[in-house]
Amino acid sequence: MAQSIYLNAAKENKTILHAADSAENACRSIFSAIEDRAEENQLKVLEAFRALRVSPAHFMPSYGYGYYDLGRDKLGELFARVMGTEDALVRPGIASGTHALACALFGLLAPGDELLFASGQPYDTLFSIIGNKGEPGTLQGYGIRYSQLPLKQGSVDYTALAAALQTKPRVCMLQRSRGYCNRPSLCMGDFHKLIPFIKSHSPHTVVLVDNCYGEFVELSEPAAAGADVVAGSLIKNPGGGLAPTGGYIAGSSVLLNRIAARMTSPGIGREVGSYAAGYLPFFQGLYLAPQMVKESMKGAVFTAALLQALGFSVSPGPKEPRGCIIQTVQMENKEQLIAFCQAIQSWSPVDAYVTPEPWAMPGYADPVIMAAGAFIQGASLELSADAPLRAPYTVYMQGGLCYPQVKAAAMAAAAAVLEN
Ligand SMILES: *Cc1c(COP(=O)(O)O)cnc(C)c1O
Repeated sequence: MAQSIYLNAAKENKTILHAADSAENACRSIFSAIEDRAEENQLKVLEAFRALRVSPAHFMPSYGYGYYDLGRDKLGELFARVMGTEDALVRPGIASGTHALACALFGLLAPGDELLFASGQPYDTLFSIIGNKGEPGTLQGYGIRYSQLPLKQGSVDYTALAAALQTKPRVCMLQRSRGYCNRPSLCMGDFHKLIPFIKSHSPHTVVLVDNCYGEFVELSEPAAAGADVVAGSLIKNPGGGLAPTGGYIAGSSVLLNRIAARMTSPGIGREVGSYAAGYLPFFQGLYLAPQMVKESMKGAVFTAALLQALGFSVSPGPKEPRGCIIQTVQMENKEQLIAFCQAIQSWSPVDAYVTPEPWAMPGYADPVIMAAGAFIQGASLELSADAPLRAPYTVYMQGGLCYPQVKAAAMAAAAAVLEN
């Protein structure tokens, strides 16, 4: 039955079906490496649950101030253990990855301090946090100085970094995922060189890593390379597709106490915050996250191999190293972009019958098309694809809680694009 459904996804195009078979065969060894990593990560997570004595009492709802909220605090302990940090804040009340990063930045930086962003251009939503001089409520509006180092041939520019560290910035920020930039993601190998380099030039600089989309992609997390604080979203990798909302910040207790004062308020910090819906999906989601990340990674590798075989330029290539779950595919024109995203939507479990259209979005100069047939609104560990309608017509595709869906969707997207 599977073959007939895949043939249907490929719009009865046998060339695509055959290309998919050979792409899948060519990816076997990469799939098996992804499965091996997921196995290691799964055992790491299981070990954390066992060692920290997770029990049903932790899944219970809490109300009001949430004093002595067992579930909330246990989630913090679990994330700290899995992220390899001393401490972690995990909250449904952190509205998104952007909010987690904003808490970290406002908590760590004071007026007069400097923030250095060392990995090219930050993710789009960070522009509004950084803001402009004199813009109320933003980092620069509070008198925090900001500088950013352009990448050199897609990698961090070490010479420029050494020069920039002479002013001893309070925070140096790195972004693991490629985000909406056409650059390779930072892999753990990169962090193992970069972070000691930063510390050797400026020992008191706090290294903050935007970990969004990177969790469980490799065998360790950025703190293993010396990152002081990492932050991310629970509707991406570490929520395992089940966390309904939320974010996390992990790092040393001293730094997290400062950040907690921004997350809630000075004086109450981490001690308050209840969740009346109960914590069960956060525990289940973290537990399953390595499996879900594995499925999405296999889907991304398959998509890269299939689209490359059909003549499209893709990044990363099927055999290139990956530090995040994002896959880009280069389309030739607007029509192909739209056809690709609409096909992805039509192979989603939710809203498959809906046809996404390009739309004007706040913060973007060009209309954007977004395919997202997700159970959790905006969740991008679930299969999603989006693209601004402008040259070079790049589609950003990520996620997928199960490989067969990504496989069918990628075949449908290939068929739709080739028909165009
Ligand atoms: C998604 C993402 C963010 C922001 O997260 P939201 O949950 O969308 O606010 C920041 N940085 C990177 C690299 C991301 O992928």
